[in-house]
Order: sequence, then structure tokens, then C-alpha cells
Amino acid sequence: MKKYLLLSLAALCAALGLSAQTENQEITVAAAESYATQQSTYTPSFKVDGTNAKVRNVILLIGDGMGHGAVNAAMYANDGLTMTNLKTFGLVRTQSADNFTTDSAASGTAYATGVKTNNGFVGMNTERERIANIPEILTPMGYACGVLSTDDLNGATPASFFAHQAARGDKEEIWADLPASPLVFASAGKQSTFEELPLATQEAIRKTFTVVYDPKDPAAAASSRLVYLPKSVHLDRGDYLPATTEMAINYLAQRSKKGFFLMVEGARIDKHEHSNELPETLAETLDFDKAIEAAVRFAEKDGHTLVIISADHETGATILTGGDLETGFVRTVFASKGHSPMMVPLFAYGPHSRDFGCVQENSDVANKILGLLGAKK
Ligand SMILES: [Zn+2]
Repeated sequence: MKKYLLLSLAALCAALGLSAQTENQEITVAAAESYATQQSTYTPSFKVDGTNAKVRNVILLIGDGMGHGAVNAAMYANDGLTMTNLKTFGLVRTQSADNFTTDSAASGTAYATGVKTNNGFVGMNTERERIANIPEILTPMGYACGVLSTDDLNGATPASFFAHQAARGDKEEIWADLPASPLVFASAGKQSTFEELPLATQEAIRKTFTVVYDPKDPAAAASSRLVYLPKSVHLDRGDYLPATTEMAINYLAQRSKKGFFLMVEGARIDKHEHSNELPETLAETLDFDKAIEAAVRFAEKDGHTLVIISADHETGATILTGGDLETGFVRTVFASKGHSPMMVPLFAYGPHSRDFGCVQENSDVANKILGLLGAKK
């Protein structure tokens, strides 16, 4: 069996011309028996889906590295996903301004600003000028904006929604940009990362935001702008991502009459694909699907909320090669330990969802969101 897989992988690589792209990357064949988790999924009524009703709120959920391989493997292992229960489906092209294969900084910036930039850049264009992000554009219009991630807050995707730095690795500079951003809600990893920042940065953030380490801290409910930092954002984090998605939605909905924008990132799908670990990739994708469920349930009740689910790029060149519906067994091949330039899936639910049912650039997604919320760029 192993020989067969290796042979087909070699044939596939030859067909796709992958050999040049995977320089310095070990090509592995990873198979895992998994995981009939039987996690429940949710199917909404579709009453408001695809209508021209006014969009007041947008929830953008980004699965870092969540390409077709991760979605297919998780869907078949679990016998369904909330995201694949939705009816509107599109594809997203992810190339950055300077590279055929994007990183999370360039793609995060495209999703956050509607502008393509270079790999490594956060909230800056190719000329190293600051570009306004969705929260900076929407807040003066009266919207409340938030970000949530299972990465650290300085991770490239959440950072793209509040920071402006030409080097995604400049962790302290990225955190130092937080007090100047108009975000009302931010939650991501983690308490220790924050406490290791220079004291002046911690103080500046505490001046602008109420910082809590426990979502039940009474200071959270009493706050007008909140940063919630859990102890862990790893797989021992429990239901942090879905529970905090619900918390963020309620927090933002209470703090604006006009509407809100929330970005939720499932950051760790990517990290496990980089290590070619299938069970953890599935666990992270399924956890992300629970956050999607929280968003879709709110959209169903609200009627004026658009939910968009996509990815910043594919990771691992992850391919589903076999499985069994009865047992939830899935087998994948990881053809890379890096990102791939494959188009990523997009799912949408709510009014105007059909605007996203096409092939589009990651930057188009941001520009459509801004258009639907009445922003002029
Ligand atoms: Zn990555």
C-alpha cells in the first residue's frame, strides 16, 4: 500500500510540476485512522440566505491553511460539517503581490484591507505605506469591530486587522499598535505572551482596553472595550474558540446599534498541516466548525448577519486519498510542509451570500464586505 501511495504521489507531483515548488521541503505520505467524532452539525433554515435584505453585521471566519484537503478530510471523518451544510460556495485565489504562494500576512492583509501586498507585510502596501483595515474604515461609520484567534494576537491574521508593520515577526511593535486601533473586542493567545511584553506596551493597552484572563471576570461585562487573553490557545484550550465566538458576537451586538464586524480565525489548522499531522488537523478543523456554528446560529436568529467562511491559503498540499463513511476513516497525503497556491473554498450564509458564490481574489472578499456595509473606500 505504501509503495502504491508513493508511486501515485510521484505521478501527481510530476503532473502538477510540484518538484520545483517543493524545494527543500520533505515530501511525506501521512495516513491516519480517524476519528468518527460524531460532532453535531447545524443546518439553518435558509430563509434569509441569498436574499437582498440589508446586511448589518458581518462575521468573517478564516481557517488558517484550511484548503480543500482539510475540509474534505474533516467532513468525511465527522460525517458532515456545519460549513458544508451551507448552500453558497465559492473559491478564493490567494496569491500575494510578490509571490505565487502567499503567507498569512499578505493574505490576512488582503482580507483585512482589500489590497494585495507582499509576503510578510501586515497592514502595509507594497510601498510600505499604511493601508486602512476594515475596523478602521467601519468604526467611524458607527460599527463595532472585533477580532478573535487561536493564535497569539500578534499572529499575522489577527494583526492584519489592527496593526501596520512591514515585518510580521515584529511581535512587540505589532502589540504596540493595538491601543491606536479602533477595535472594541480582541481575544487571542495568550496571557503569558501579553505579560512578557514591555511594561510600557502593557500599560498603554490597559489604558485603552479592559484586559481579562477569564471571560467570567465581572470587569469584562462592565467594560466598553475588551481584551480577553486565555491561558492557552493550544488543543488543551477546551471550547475557547466556539465559546468566545459567541461571547464576541454578544459583546459587539450590545455595543453598536449600527452593526458589527467580527473576524474569527481558526489559526492552528495551518500549524498542524505544516507538521503533516492529520489527527490534529482534523481536531482543529472540527473545532473551527463549532465556531462557524455559533456564527450561523446567530445569523439565523438575526436575519441581517452575513457569515463568510474561507481560508488565507492552503497548507501541506493536503489531499484526501481514501476513506470509509461507515467508520469515519480518512487517509490523506501531505505533499508539502509549506503553503500551497491552491484556491481555497469559501462558504457563505445570510443576506447577499450569493455575492461570494464565484471565483474571487482574497482582496475582493474585503471589498465586497465593505460595499455591503455601505463603506466608500
Ligand atoms: Zn502557515
